Amino acid sequence: MIFLRFLIFCLFLPSTAAFAAPPLVAVDVGHGLVNSGALSARGRSEFEFNQVFAGVLAGALRQRDLGVREINFAGDIGSLAERPAQAVGSDFFIAIHHDSISEAYLQFWDWDGSEASYTEVKRGFGIFVSAQNPQLATSLRCASSLGAMLRRAGFSPSSWHGRRHRAADAENGVWYYDNLVVLYRTTLPAVLFEAGVIKHREEELELLDPERQARMADALATAIAACLFVIEKSAPE
Ligand SMILES: [Zn+2]
Repeated sequence: MIFLRFLIFCLFLPSTAAFAAPPLVAVDVGHGLVNSGALSARGRSEFEFNQVFAGVLAGALRQRDLGVREINFAGDIGSLAERPAQAVGSDFFIAIHHDSISEAYLQFWDWDGSEASYTEVKRGFGIFVSAQNPQLATSLRCASSLGAMLRRAGFSPSSWHGRRHRAADAENGVWYYDNLVVLYRTTLPAVLFEAGVIKHREEELELLDPERQARMADALATAIAACLFVIEKSAPE
């Protein structure tokens, strides 16, 4: 029996020893308790949406045996630059946001006894990369994978971003947003993800649906895992 255990131990030793530490994904919750971002059509802060969805995504990543570094999950981070600083040592950076729309396109309604603003013209997800990121090619490849996987899962990118942003891969909802601190002040491949438009009344309700959140997080986690595998394979020795 002891010999058998030893044999099994020896058989498994080389393969387990060959595994490096699992890839580490830095998940950053956009905004915070103090500057909580835009308000939804029903008056909920963007930070609350970001915090919930980042938690769902972290769970989906861990299910795939990826490591997760949680950044600003409590909403109390000190500065924008601290976000990429906390991500150092990770393999990939994703900032979680939810989208709004500029004031010119807002309409107004009565929600819960007070006036709130909403839009009917913009909805859908968006993925942003910075051309100033030192790992631009990898960031773009991962961003396109994220968008393609989301589309396969039934989600639609917003075409609205084409008004202000240069397209990187419009079909998959990927756009350039060069001056974002979280994207260029890092040496990691990095994307900023806008899950949807919280000013859109129907999309807001969809974004609050736990089943949909899980499906979206699942698509993202699948794409990130695949992308990290490619990065690892193509990394110089
Ligand atoms: Zn935001």
